[in-house]
Amino acid sequence: MATKSKSTARREKHPPIAQQDKPRCGLCGSTRKRLTRTPCCHHWICDDEENYVLFSFARNSCHRNHGRYTLCSSHFNEGHKGRWQDCVKCRAGFNTEMYVWYGTNEYNFEKLENPPTFEPTHCAECGRVIHLGADGYMISGKNYYCERCSDKRMRQVIAPERLPHKK
Ligand SMILES: [Zn+2]
Ligand SMILES: [Zn+2]
Ligand SMILES: [Zn+2]
Ligand SMILES: [Zn+2]
Repeated sequence: MATKSKSTARREKHPPIAQQDKPRCGLCGSTRKRLTRTPCCHHWICDDEENYVLFSFARNSCHRNHGRYTLCSSHFNEGHKGRWQDCVKCRAGFNTEMYVWYGTNEYNFEKLENPPTFEPTHCAECGRVIHLGADGYMISGKNYYCERCSDKRMRQVIAPERLPHKK
């Protein structure tokens, strides 16, 4: 039995042209939020910095993410010359893993081509690989601790100082 195609009415994949012409955020694609241009690379981006909750470390602001977590922006803020992709100062300014992350994460409009390779960072306690860009971690001296182990360490530090809950 042949099933009748119902697909003709469902062709809404491509937005109408008028909508495509509207500037949209180069990171999340939004056309609804207020847009501005990045000072570093003049791309359209959501002007959403005020959505950021202070000290929340949330990464929900396109503007803030590009401004804080990319080589593009740091290169611009540091006043380096030329393209950030070729910049030796940027390369020297970060450890390789962070350099690669800053150059290739989703907050970039243009990603670093041929990023250098690096040795993964391991937790000094449990040995698990820590992705410095994406994971939570703690640095103590020269050692990195993964989120779990740093939690544990924090508790060990805090626990003896806890006062008994008596009245
Ligand atoms: Zn956006
Ligand atoms: Zn930029
Ligand atoms: Zn630079
Ligand atoms: Zn660990």
